[in-house]
Amino acid sequence: MRPARWTTRIVFLFYSRPVFRAWEIFCNHAARILAHKERMRSVRFSRAWAHLNLQRMEIQRGLGRISNSHAHVCATCGHCCKGTRERDAFLDRVMQDPNTQHLGARRRTGEMVGLRIAQAQGQILHRDALQAQGCCNELTCAGCRLPQELRPMQCLAYFCGAAAKALSQEECEEGIRLLKRLLKLQWQAVRLALQSQFGRQVQ
Ligand code: SF4
Ligand code: SF4
Repeated sequence: MRPARWTTRIVFLFYSRPVFRAWEIFCNHAARILAHKERMRSVRFSRAWAHLNLQRMEIQRGLGRISNSHAHVCATCGHCCKGTRERDAFLDRVMQDPNTQHLGARRRTGEMVGLRIAQAQGQILHRDALQAQGCCNELTCAGCRLPQELRPMQCLAYFCGAAAKALSQEECEEGIRLLKRLLKLQWQAVRLALQSQFGRQVQ
């Protein structure tokens, strides 16, 4: 595998870390404040959320394919899954289930929507593995129990320098394309939240 040129890796890390982090925080707060909490659950808006969710899943599967190249680095580190705070944000929940009762910035009770879906679809991974202590609820000693497309966006979008070093030039370039699509998707979600205030969707 041809390692990525350092310039490509820097651009990739730039999108993955400061840009994605800041944009994710902004879009989640904006969507949460702008969304009409009843109208956004209507059939029409639920369809629009589901459409965005399909795109989100496809992007996350793409980022997941890249992640396979650095899985060995993360397996020996594990830093990202440490700490018991919940990782799912407003848009992770609403896109997967517009009827979610957890509409705050942070979910403090209940389960991740992705976990509920994985259970219903029989897609839970590492069923027999012990739960990891002091970490995210979804982490087992054998890895995350959620399929990549059902995890919170930040779990797939974040790469550190050590993880990015394990990627090829093609993987970094593909990662940049996918992260740009994820940023655009989050903006579309903010617009949808705003449109729910007025009860109509603007193309
Ligand atoms: S992305 Fe980096 S910090 Fe996070 S688990 Fe992997 S190696 Fe550790
Ligand atoms: S959902 Fe999975 S990948 Fe994300 S922090 Fe939790 S254990 Fe880690």
